[in-house]
Amino acid sequence: MTFTAKEQELLEVSASETDGGELIGKRPEDVPSEILSRYYRAKNPLKALRGRCLDCCCDNAAEVRKCVSVDCPSWPFRMGVNPLRKKQQLSEEQKQRRTAQLRAGAEAKLTPRTSKSEVA
Ligand code: SF4
Repeated sequence: MTFTAKEQELLEVSASETDGGELIGKRPEDVPSEILSRYYRAKNPLKALRGRCLDCCCDNAAEVRKCVSVDCPSWPFRMGVNPLRKKQQLSEEQKQRRTAQLRAGAEAKLTPRTSKSEVA
């Protein structure tokens, strides 16, 4: 049996006797990140879920949109966004306060720091 380069890098012989020497997927956290990123462009789990849904629907985005499999754990995330993390609605006062904070932060970054040799 021949294996692709991808399979060789991402699979390993199972250490469990019950698997009878079969290949199993490596734990993703044990695979070097440069190898993972070579094969999986989606670094964002939501994009990965979206990709899985597209795969499930033969790359037909309209079918993903219409998916009726509400028991599927991916269903709420199939559009590639997390609907449980709603966009915050800020009051005018909150917007102004945040704008001022951002401006202060940006100005602080632009202000040259005094080096230790200048202080001494
Ligand atoms: S949510 Fe629908 S499209 Fe996505 S994986 Fe599940 S069944 Fe497939």
